[in-house]
Amino acid sequence: MTPVGLLFKVNSEGLFTCPVNASPVDYAKIYPDPESEKAIMGSVVYCIHHKEGCQWSDELRKLKAHLNTCKHDAVLCAAHCGAMIPRVLMQDHLRYTCPRRRANCEHCHTEFSGSALEEHQGNCGHEPIYCENKCGAKVQRRHTQQHLQQHCSKRLVPCRHCGQKYTQDTVCAHGEGCARAPVPCPQRCAAPVPRDLLDAHLRDHCTAAALPCSFRDAGCRFKGSRQAVERHTEESCAQHLCLVSAVAARQARQLDALRAAVARLSLNCTGALVWRIADWTAKMAEAKCKDGVELVSPAFYTSQYGYKLQASLFLNGNGAGESTHMSVYIKILPGEYDALLRWPFAHTVSFTLFDQSSSPDRACNIVESFVPDPTWKNFQRPSKEPDALGFGFPRFVSHEMLKKRNFVKDDIMFLRVKVDPSKIVAV
Ligand SMILES: [Zn+2]
Ligand SMILES: [Zn+2]
Ligand SMILES: [Zn+2]
Ligand SMILES: [Zn+2]
Ligand SMILES: [Zn+2]
Ligand SMILES: [Zn+2]
Ligand SMILES: [Zn+2]
Repeated sequence: MTPVGLLFKVNSEGLFTCPVNASPVDYAKIYPDPESEKAIMGSVVYCIHHKEGCQWSDELRKLKAHLNTCKHDAVLCAAHCGAMIPRVLMQDHLRYTCPRRRANCEHCHTEFSGSALEEHQGNCGHEPIYCENKCGAKVQRRHTQQHLQQHCSKRLVPCRHCGQKYTQDTVCAHGEGCARAPVPCPQRCAAPVPRDLLDAHLRDHCTAAALPCSFRDAGCRFKGSRQAVERHTEESCAQHLCLVSAVAARQARQLDALRAAVARLSLNCTGALVWRIADWTAKMAEAKCKDGVELVSPAFYTSQYGYKLQASLFLNGNGAGESTHMSVYIKILPGEYDALLRWPFAHTVSFTLFDQSSSPDRACNIVESFVPDPTWKNFQRPSKEPDALGFGFPRFVSHEMLKKRNFVKDDIMFLRVKVDPSKIVAV
């Protein structure tokens, strides 16, 4: 006979084995041994919940009765939720986890069954939650919309000057620098002005700005508000007129000085003048109907510090050439270096009338020259009053000859007056 079945073991192949020698045993041949069973039921055992902490220990036969009261043994939930709960945890279960428990929401204090409370949690309107805009505020769920719209420091609000939207906690800082924010006028006129219009205000509109009188450039020193300047302008006509006329006089003197400077700079000092006579037809017509019409050339110098000369031209002739010829003369004008020059003037002077024929080979210029007669008074040092007439050729070229060739082309005639430089003694 084999001892009590409790001692049999099952090997890896699922067969019962002898606890003594571990050899396989046929289950059908295992019989309970009344004696042994009696002994077993009398043996001392621990409660099956010993590991959970039950300290009960007694004969095996009393175990079943103990389990009916063991606080670690699981029993059906008293609220009939169907869960098996150790007796020791029943109160907690009924209070906190049993879906059939009754409980109050900690926020709104409404009573719920356990499962309803679980659903309610996360939706309770009285539960304080953090603002979704991360402003840091905690508000009851039912007030979140109102918070977002009216109180949240991160809600967007328009700047009252420019209308751009900013969070409520930055809009003030923006407003201090906002280009559209009104700022007091630095000249302390009445109205505040939007910051970005301040320059224009000071320039064009400020009633307090000290503006200069519009005759400032003429020398008026008056400054004042816009109204004051307007009043001043009305009242100061005579004074302003004096200033303007003084300016005009000053400018006239400056113009004279400039003209003199330009004349000095453009002075011809080469000893040769090419005189361009434009509007020839009109000038000739005038010469024919009036007596003694004389054209004079720009003055020129024979060298930088030489004699000052001027050519003159009678288109309708003069003296022996009157009405039939064109007459040319040279005059000696009072020059700036006359005191240093030799007198009488003794240099050969030539006149050339250019034939402006389109083929230069066939051009036939008219050239006349003379050596000054030292006895002729025109070649003495000139007085401050220049002589009326110079020295030259009354019959330089006949009117008939003028028509034959291209001496006048495009209504322009060119006459060269040249002084032979060889004998000029410059200082
Ligand atoms: Zn127990
Ligand atoms: Zn339950
Ligand atoms: Zn609630
Ligand atoms: Zn907020
Ligand atoms: Zn703004
Ligand atoms: Zn102002
Ligand atoms: Zn003024």
